[in-house]
Amino acid sequence: MDLLITNARYTVTSNSANEILENVSIGITDGKISYIGPDKPGAKKVYDAAGKLIAPGLINSHTHLGMSLLRGWSEGVNLQGFLELVWAAEGAIMDEATCELGTELGALEALLSGTTTTMDMYLNPVATHRGAVRVGLRHIAGPIFFDFPGLDGLQWHQRIERAHQWKDELAKIGGPYIPTYLMPHSTYTDSPENLTEVAQIAKELGARIHLHVSETEAENLDIAQRYSKTPTEVCRDTGILDVPTIFGHGVHLSDSDMKIAASKGASVGHCPGSNLKLGSGLARFNDMRKAGIAVGLGTDSCASSNDLDMFSVMRMAAHVVALRQSPADVDLVSIVRAATIEAARAVGLDDRIGSIEIGKEADLIAIDLHAAHLTPVHNLNALLVFAAGRGDVTDVWVAGDQVVASRTSTKIDLAELINRVNQRVKALDPLR
Ligand SMILES: [Zn+2]
Repeated sequence: MDLLITNARYTVTSNSANEILENVSIGITDGKISYIGPDKPGAKKVYDAAGKLIAPGLINSHTHLGMSLLRGWSEGVNLQGFLELVWAAEGAIMDEATCELGTELGALEALLSGTTTTMDMYLNPVATHRGAVRVGLRHIAGPIFFDFPGLDGLQWHQRIERAHQWKDELAKIGGPYIPTYLMPHSTYTDSPENLTEVAQIAKELGARIHLHVSETEAENLDIAQRYSKTPTEVCRDTGILDVPTIFGHGVHLSDSDMKIAASKGASVGHCPGSNLKLGSGLARFNDMRKAGIAVGLGTDSCASSNDLDMFSVMRMAAHVVALRQSPADVDLVSIVRAATIEAARAVGLDDRIGSIEIGKEADLIAIDLHAAHLTPVHNLNALLVFAAGRGDVTDVWVAGDQVVASRTSTKIDLAELINRVNQRVKALDPLR
């Protein structure tokens, strides 16, 4: 055994029985969980988890990490106003190196907050992936597609070329395993013809697809006027849903959309923080789950939700259910699972991560329970959703590699990164 995490006061497994174990040790061999049980001698390294809670690393199922550089840039606007402000800023600074820098910042914030995997849609994915892997994140990225040249200046045929090169690029960069994804932005920025082509390439490559779907009522109206369809129906009719697809947001899915998504195995990355902040609406978390859709939680970008805090997202997801339905409809276990195993299912990684079970990759976090706000423990799921925060995360492992130790990155220097970011964002000053 390479590592034994000993004597964890609690272990939240997110396994099929939702077991919470007390006072067990977890062994890791070759990056995978190889042992769960009483303390056992003989490991090469020991981590003392006395007084701590061990949980699966949280999974952020929809974000745009590079936009961490635009935290606080667009306030007091709805999605349309947001896009106008953000696209202007992105046009001014988002070259490849800057996308990489913003993604390093986002990846570091994610890991220090207990998030070990992110579904990241952003410009220049080779650069963003390089940056995120350097920081130690399990970073799902993919080539992006817009009809128009867009901020990366790529023509459509170049986007297609990049898609065909993507698997080789991933192999060159290395890092924790991720599935192959293609990421057309949405049905309102990509024509049905182009979506059809992306779906065809995804089939050829054995890739999955991530795109924004029904984030706002205005989007649904726009697509209805153009095509007399819902965004979900456009996805179905272009063949997008013939490959495993995860929708970003899905706030305004109709009952019929949910049936289509469930029957096609499409999943949703639910972002309550962004939806609340931009006034986009209250997604039907329980209805989507009841329809059979895998629903993961996500933050969206730091431009629309200002941070990458999955603990606050769990809390907001619960609040949205209480507000739309009632407090009695808040199933805390389902909220924790939406940040762990259900998010893993939503992004297509549930065979590898999302729960603490023998054979899974060791994406784990340690939470220090020795705190006034975490005492006493009557209900551990309530503690995770309503009381714990990202500052309580002390240590983080990705595939057995300790990427955060005592609240500090083992991979990059925070002060040096902050300095580089502050230098770079000065280029935005003329736009203020
Ligand atoms: Zn988004």
